Amino acid sequence: MNSILVRGGRVLSPEDQLDEMLDVRIVDGVVREIAPNLASGGGEILDARGQVVAPGFIDIHVHLREPGGEASETLATGLAAAVAGGFTAVAPMPNTRPVIDQPALVAAEIEKARSLGLARVFPIAAVTLGSEGERLSDLAGLAAVGAVAFSDDGRAVKTAALLRRALEESVRLGAPIIEHCEDPSLSAGGVINEGPVAEQLKVGGVPVLSEDVCVARDLAVAEATGGHLHVAHLSSARSLDMVRQAKRRGVRVTCEAAPHHFTLTDEAVLAYGTNAKMNPPLRSAVDVEAIRAGLADGTIDAIATDHAPHAAELKARPLDGGAPFGIIGLETAVGLALTELVDTGLISLGHMVALLTANPARIIHQPLGRLQVGGTADLTLLDPELVWTYRAAEGRSKSRNTPFDGRTFRGAVTATIVAGRVVYRRDTADPAHSA
Ligand SMILES: [Zn+2]
Ligand SMILES: [Zn+2]
Repeated sequence: MNSILVRGGRVLSPEDQLDEMLDVRIVDGVVREIAPNLASGGGEILDARGQVVAPGFIDIHVHLREPGGEASETLATGLAAAVAGGFTAVAPMPNTRPVIDQPALVAAEIEKARSLGLARVFPIAAVTLGSEGERLSDLAGLAAVGAVAFSDDGRAVKTAALLRRALEESVRLGAPIIEHCEDPSLSAGGVINEGPVAEQLKVGGVPVLSEDVCVARDLAVAEATGGHLHVAHLSSARSLDMVRQAKRRGVRVTCEAAPHHFTLTDEAVLAYGTNAKMNPPLRSAVDVEAIRAGLADGTIDAIATDHAPHAAELKARPLDGGAPFGIIGLETAVGLALTELVDTGLISLGHMVALLTANPARIIHQPLGRLQVGGTADLTLLDPELVWTYRAAEGRSKSRNTPFDGRTFRGAVTATIVAGRVVYRRDTADPAHSA
C-alpha cells in the first residue's frame, strides 16, 4: 500500500465547492479522505502548510514535437516540463512528423506517454489527413483509441465544408473541434502583429482581421451544426467579443487564452526578437486588455499554454526569414497566471484554478479537474506567495525559446502529484526556479 498524507493545506477546488484548510489522504493513487486533522496513518507526509492544494492542472494545448521534431522536444522532456509547471495532464496537438491522423499513431503516443509515468497525455488528432484540408480523417476511429479532440492546429480547417462535416461528426463523438483561427489570405507573409512595431521593424504584419474572419466563419458553422467549437489561443478583442455574443445566443463554443496573450504586447518583439514571435502574434494593448477582461468575465474558459518548443538554431534564423512561430510555456504558465491575474486582483485564486482544471476538463469532455473522495489523486500544490525567478537554461523543456527568461513571479508550483505519485517537487535550490 502506497499512501501520502497531504497535510495542512488550503484545499481549493471550485467545482467541488471546496475552499478550506483540510488534509488529503491518498492511498494507491486514489483520494481516500478529505477532512481536517487526519491521523498520519504511517505513510509519507507532504507538508502543505501555507500552500494551496488544487486538482491537477490541465493544459489542453501543447506541442511536444515527438515524433519527428526531437531536436526541439520529446515526450520525455515535454512531460517533465509539464509536471514542473504543475500540469498533471496535457493535450498535445497533432502537427508532428508524421501528423497524428491515424489511430495507430494516437495509440503509440498514449503508450509512450504512459511508460514515462509523468503527466497524463490526451492526444488531439488531425481533423483532416495530414492537416492538409483535403480529406477528413477517420474521426470515429481516432476517438475510439483515445483522441479527445480534433484540430488542424498550425492552421484552421481549410474549408467551411470540411469544418461543417467535422463539427457534425463531433456531436456524435462527444469531442470538440479545436480551431486555430487564421485566414491565410490575410496573414500571408506576416510574422508579427500588423501595426507600428511591424512597420518600425519593416516586417510583414498579421492583422487581427485574419483571426476575426476565421472566428466569424467558424462560429457560423458551429451555430448551424450544433457541434462543439473550441477556439484556441484567442488574441483579438473583436474575436473575443464575437465569442461572447455567440455564447449569449447559446452557440456551443468555448475558448482559451495563452499566458503570453494576457501578458505581453507586440512591443515585446523589440526586446525579445524571435522569442516573441508566435502565431497568433502578440497584439496591441487594446487586445491584451480585452483578453484580460474576457478572463475576468468568464468568456474565456481556459488558460492553455500553446507550448511550442523550437531548437535554438531554428529560432536563430531571422524574424522575417524562417524563424518558426511559437514559444515554450509549460514552466511559466502558472507563475504568469498567479502574478498577472491573481496578484493584480483581476481574478480570484479559485477562478484561476477553474481556468486550469474543471474548465479545460469540460472542454475535452474528460472526468478530470476535481478533488473528490474516490477520485484519482491528481493534485497540484502551489505557494501563492513565493517569489522566484525563472531561468530558461535550467528548465526541463529541451528548448529555451521564451521571452520570460529571467522574469520574476509571485506564486509557484511546489508539488505535482499524478495518480498518487509525487512526480515533481519544488527544490528551493533548483536553479531553474531560484528564489
Ligand atoms: Zn495554433
Ligand atoms: Zn498550437
